[in-house]
Amino acid sequence: MADTSVMDKIVSLCKRRGFVFQSSEIYGGVGSVWDYGPLGVELKKNIKERWWKSLVYQRDDIEGLDAAILMHPKVWEASGHVAGFTDPMVDCKTCKGRFRADKLVDAKCLQKPSKQPGQHDACQLTEPRLFNLMFKTFMGPMEDSAAVVYLRPETAQGIYVNYQNVLTASRQRVPFGIAQIGKAFRNEITPGNFIFRTREFEQMEMQFFVKPGSDMEWFEQWREIRMQWHKDLGLNPAKLQWHQHGPTELAHYARAAYDIEYEFPFGWQEIEGIHNRGDFDLGRHQEYSGKKLEYYDQLNNERYLPYIVETSAGADRVTLTVLVDAYREEEVEGETRVVLGFHPAVAPIKAAVLPLMKKDGLGEAADAIYRDVKKAMPTFYDDSGAIGRRYRRMDEAGTPFCITVDHDTLTADSVTVRHRDSMQQDRIGTAQLVAWLRERTA
Ligand code: ATP
Repeated sequence: MADTSVMDKIVSLCKRRGFVFQSSEIYGGVGSVWDYGPLGVELKKNIKERWWKSLVYQRDDIEGLDAAILMHPKVWEASGHVAGFTDPMVDCKTCKGRFRADKLVDAKCLQKPSKQPGQHDACQLTEPRLFNLMFKTFMGPMEDSAAVVYLRPETAQGIYVNYQNVLTASRQRVPFGIAQIGKAFRNEITPGNFIFRTREFEQMEMQFFVKPGSDMEWFEQWREIRMQWHKDLGLNPAKLQWHQHGPTELAHYARAAYDIEYEFPFGWQEIEGIHNRGDFDLGRHQEYSGKKLEYYDQLNNERYLPYIVETSAGADRVTLTVLVDAYREEEVEGETRVVLGFHPAVAPIKAAVLPLMKKDGLGEAADAIYRDVKKAMPTFYDDSGAIGRRYRRMDEAGTPFCITVDHDTLTADSVTVRHRDSMQQDRIGTAQLVAWLRERTA
């Protein structure tokens, strides 16, 4: 049974502690667009950096890219998004609601939210109609059809159209990949579940170009690498599973596709797709641009259009996954402690410095330690309230280590480091503190 109350608690914690705010909240909010607050921006940035490091820095065969959001409109004709990036929609003539025909079970009737659209006596649903998900705007001074451009609905096309530029500039050889993190926009009709499905979001996509025939081998490798990445992020392996696209789900050009799914409080849902796209993308861009996009393999003196293995994850969706996976409530000495048990590498604040009291020189000693640690990592200083309450505030923000400065700090030059998860305490020499923390938060 899905436990949606957990989601309510996470949404409220995210607002209270500054992870995620509703966009334009003082004007009543705007549908399914969210802003990241001081803690959220750090969490999401750390996740994106971890992704980038694992692909671009730690491998020799992947290059980075940052393509613009606006692209030539023909890109979206070639990609198939103008003709086909549509969802079948139904409208309700009574309440004027619009719902995705294939997601009616997840939708709520606007007049009677306990029922799904079509189940209330007053509902009058139309036949399904197609609705394009791309945001349209105009480039230049003329608002006419010749000036239409789109906000990209995926970052992948920026990679495909730059594949030859990157190849030439980097002197890579096939097989090689291009990685990119950037905004994407979809005018989703059934957005929801907080930052799970939004109209503006960020994707972390890597397109790997391979020789035809080696594609399934690479596909299997990439499946393994990407699943391992999510596990290394600290996600509970029991909550991760594969979903293989069956014949009806598989895009007509795709040779194979799997989604990595996570078990959210609202059920198993996709967080990343790994797709073997064959030569569809480069083939289409070659056709629509009239430019040859073949790869010349000098060693074997042969030409071919590379196949593409795609790994495509949502930065916001992975951020939500990390938040949900990290959230727990525990009973400690008759009180409930709320903990975000983040992997230390993605935790927004790595350490908090807490003087036991402000007087007797403890405040000054703590301040000096805080200044020192802050040079090395995001650190928080808190000297207000009982120490237990300060620990709880840090637990809720997901801070892995609390450094308590006490009288022994002054005499023995050491501090107490309290571990968020076990609540165990260690005594560490002040001189070793930064190195000790660095080792545990990288
Ligand atoms: P879904 O079926 O959930 O709409 P999709 O199959 O359309 O997703 P892709 O086009 O494969 O998704 O996009 C790749 C990844 O981008 C997804 O796995 C997801 O993490 C992310 N993503 C896609 N749409 C959204 C959205 N509206 N909001 C947030 N993230 C999204």
